[in-house]
Amino acid sequence: MKLKFITKSKGAAGEYSEYSFNSHTGCSHGCRYCYLKGMGMNHPPKPKKMLYVDNGWILIPTTPLEFARDCYRPELKQLIAENPTVKEKGIFLSFATDPLLLQTIEYTNAIIKMNARYDVKSVLLTKTSNKSWLIWLRDYFMTLPNYDYEDFKNLIEYGVTLTGFDELEPDAAPNRERKKSLQFAKTRKFTTWVSLEPIIDFNKSLEMIEQSKDFTDYYKIGLHSRKKYARTEALEFKRKVEELLPTGNFEFKNSFKKLIDEV
Ligand code: SF4
Repeated sequence: MKLKFITKSKGAAGEYSEYSFNSHTGCSHGCRYCYLKGMGMNHPPKPKKMLYVDNGWILIPTTPLEFARDCYRPELKQLIAENPTVKEKGIFLSFATDPLLLQTIEYTNAIIKMNARYDVKSVLLTKTSNKSWLIWLRDYFMTLPNYDYEDFKNLIEYGVTLTGFDELEPDAAPNRERKKSLQFAKTRKFTTWVSLEPIIDFNKSLEMIEQSKDFTDYYKIGLHSRKKYARTEALEFKRKVEELLPTGNFEFKNSFKKLIDEV
């Protein structure tokens, strides 16, 4: 099936999720290490062409709800029919932007609602801290007929990136605020997760784990593709991660495994 609105992941992105949704390209957090920079996309979010419809002589934007209903839904249904595991694996929001920016959030909301309607999980990753949005989303689910907290936990995964280096992420919410939003999400019974990628400094990443482990369900851990790391330090880091997270609720990405010769 040729996908138009849902993106099939390639390369390292596939270690997060097989499928993603990106309403926009570009992101205004201004991270110095941004992987989008190399793709010429380190700028405020621009809506993708797919959000516009051709009314005969001019392109007009669809509303998020129209887009979700008329464009996204048919593709989602077809994807489920061809690959039912997408329900459990989920759709990742987003690789090409942050899903909770002013420009993207309404599309994100519409897509989460549509995914939930077909029992497809939505996996979010953000560098914002937006408690009112977390409250809104939880309340939205709780008012749906036949949904309880278990359904909610299975259908939404809320994740934040933690590097511990605010100065490298000048326009994102500070790491401290992201941790607070994660803690808040946990108290509201969200499934929570942390992307420890890119690791800027091993000790700082350990600090991030220590400060978030009581309210984080799982971690994904990866390196910066353009940074050099010492293998001995990586091995020591791994040992300490295993100590801090004895239940094994973490996954090292291939970039890390390659450094320590595990792949
Ligand atoms: S949050 Fe992600 S996409 Fe946005 S600037 Fe930072 S690294 Fe780039």
